[in-house]
Amino acid sequence: MGKLTNKKRIYLSSPHMSEEGYEMQYVKNAFDTNWIAPLGENVNSFECELASRVGSKAAAALSSGTAAIHLALIAAGVEKGDVVFCPTLTFSATANPIIYQNATPVFIDSNFETWNMCPQSLELAFEKYPEVKAVIIVHLYGLSADMDKIMGICKKHNVVVIEDAAESLGGYYKGQHTGTFGDYGIFSFNGNKIITTSGGGMLVSNNGDMVEKVRFWATQSRDPARHYQHSELGYNYRMSNVVAGIGRGQLKILGERIEKKKHIFEYYKSEFNELAGVEFMPVNKWDSPNYWLSAITLNGKVKPLDVMEALEKENIESRPVWKPMHMQPFFQEYDFVGTDISEKIFERGICLPSDTKMNEQDLKRVSNVIKGLWMN
Ligand SMILES: *Cc1c(COP(=O)(O)O)cnc(C)c1O
Repeated sequence: MGKLTNKKRIYLSSPHMSEEGYEMQYVKNAFDTNWIAPLGENVNSFECELASRVGSKAAAALSSGTAAIHLALIAAGVEKGDVVFCPTLTFSATANPIIYQNATPVFIDSNFETWNMCPQSLELAFEKYPEVKAVIIVHLYGLSADMDKIMGICKKHNVVVIEDAAESLGGYYKGQHTGTFGDYGIFSFNGNKIITTSGGGMLVSNNGDMVEKVRFWATQSRDPARHYQHSELGYNYRMSNVVAGIGRGQLKILGERIEKKKHIFEYYKSEFNELAGVEFMPVNKWDSPNYWLSAITLNGKVKPLDVMEALEKENIESRPVWKPMHMQPFFQEYDFVGTDISEKIFERGICLPSDTKMNEQDLKRVSNVIKGLWMN
């Protein structure tokens, strides 16, 4: 697309280092001690600090959130041919590792109340696939899934639960951190997430032995022997000590980032509440989200594409809501349990600029463009 304006670019969600320079101090320490790789003090401390922040017993720092989901599936014992339930309304990284294991994803619909996995559809899926090995739950855009209901159903069926909390770091369901309800939780520090290490991920669990095992798999499954000996398939999935330094610095300002994200959401809410057809993403009573992205649905005359095009003309980034997995060409052959709810959220949904580097003037710019569409 050609350049249509000289106005400053406003992003959906971009990396935002601390004003204090915490990240640089930890990275400098890695350089000063020549602990660039492998592993080292920053990795160990980042694991402890993140585990304590979310209230989990143990954590393993990994190269990406996707790697963390992959190793969580291996920890869950998911193998060739096993069925894994996965929400359909998510980013493809939730589902791809199921395929890495040659397992079979079954996609589950959302409900309008949470935008996340629908408990009724989950029940139906258990009736259809009683042999299911694991369930992946996602907390979309930082909004908690309906955990009491979903965990109740999963416990009844005695299935391993993996929480993809890549988008919800710092968010709580009824006072408990999302990512700590299931057997395994995963977080992402990709560049667009609420805090970033440039790229990275974390697996958390209260099962310390299994977290130790995950670290073993992530470092090529090297048996304790002087020579290189391997009794299991290994992966190169560990986080580097430099990257972990960025993570430690970012974790210090996670609270500030959540406050800013919440401010952005509240601002849009106050600006757009009167606009016909606008509905905000659902923040439930039991939810204390991190507001990673502010998303709305449009059910009136103005369509999501109108908004996205108008914003792009002003050099402002926005996106549709994730396209459901059961609508993706790659995942077409796999089963889907539900109706048309996630499809409707996708068709009507739009993610608004939620970048924490925006100032009040930037927010006003976004708001004016959007409100302008309702004026003619
Ligand atoms: C970002 C994201 C991931 C993947 O994390 P990476 O660190 O980019 O591999 C997984 N699931 C969801 C829902 C995400 O948004």
